[in-house]
Amino acid sequence: MAEHPIYVTSPLLPALEEYLPYLEKIWATKTLTNGGPMHIELERALCSYLGVDYISLFTNGTVALITALQALEISGEVITTSYSFVATAHSLLWNGLTPVFVDIDPDSFNLDPSKIEAAITPRTTAIMPVHCYGGPCDVDAIQAIADKHDLKVIYDAAHAFGVSRKGDTILKHGDLSILSFHATKVFNTFEGGAIICPDAKTKTKIDRLKNFGFVNEISVVDFGINGKMSEINAAFGLLQLKHIDQAIAQRRQIDDHYRHMLQGVKGLHCPAQSEDVTQNHSYFPILVRDDFPASRDEVYERLKQNNIFARRYFYPLISAFQMYSHLESSAVSNLAVANKIANQVLCLPIYPGLSTSTVEEIAAIIKGF
Ligand SMILES: *Cc1c(COP(=O)(O)O)cnc(C)c1O
Repeated sequence: MAEHPIYVTSPLLPALEEYLPYLEKIWATKTLTNGGPMHIELERALCSYLGVDYISLFTNGTVALITALQALEISGEVITTSYSFVATAHSLLWNGLTPVFVDIDPDSFNLDPSKIEAAITPRTTAIMPVHCYGGPCDVDAIQAIADKHDLKVIYDAAHAFGVSRKGDTILKHGDLSILSFHATKVFNTFEGGAIICPDAKTKTKIDRLKNFGFVNEISVVDFGINGKMSEINAAFGLLQLKHIDQAIAQRRQIDDHYRHMLQGVKGLHCPAQSEDVTQNHSYFPILVRDDFPASRDEVYERLKQNNIFARRYFYPLISAFQMYSHLESSAVSNLAVANKIANQVLCLPIYPGLSTSTVEEIAAIIKGF
């Protein structure tokens, strides 16, 4: 029994005194928002850290998703996944778009490219895949389909901060990629998000859309929203960046230790990324398969009785929520793999500061069945 409750994640939160110099700078300039010095500095620092050319910071990842769709003038139907956080599909509804759910690949949990073309109709204008748990989508296959059918690709990369393949960031694929800097994510600004843009022109458009559509003091040319990141959030992001490499390294150690402790347990599967992916270890999903002596929910409950709060990401599927369940593409028969994985998956606690002994305790509880 864990002494204190152990949650699936705990935010990266540097010591209080480390925040003070950042706050002093803001108090000195009296600039609180609207693209102040912290905002400019964080955009520069993130471009450099992530290896991207242009980034536009947002108040959160959901408004970034909504704005990305608006910026590309997406209409009609968008192909996406039901195996994600609900904000992925909600961003489509906020733009008056119809989500069309396509099933996932059983190994990567990402959109299965071989099933995308069958879902394309004359109304389809875009694909919105998710790099689930930070694992890269099959970006080449998805781009080939998009090129063939003249579709835009907007990646929900909320989980993919800092992920690269063969040394290249995965955030430069498709037309736009969206990040979330929510407290629960690997890199946080308390609340925050961003759009990765391919060029200066697109960034200018997106920057305008997040500021009500203003081009200058007296002209509004788009029905934009207020999506701006404040100076406090940007400053907190700069501080996070100082700690992020160490935080990801600690996550990697926890990931390795879980794998070591859980290896060979019958009916339990710990999905792995290919060797050429540099992960951020944002999640540690396990699959509790039919030949495990207990169900996924029994494992979840047993952990809870021991003060350990694992999460069933992603259960229920987005397609099961009432505002989506009526869609033809939400049928269980259309999403057989996603439904199966949603009933088997459990994300175990992983965050910097989670002790080796707690990892061992969690593994022992699971092995106790
Ligand atoms: C967290 C998350 C979002 C939403 O980001 P917020 O910053 O919380 O608005 C969107 N998509 C996915 C896949 C997420 O995990």
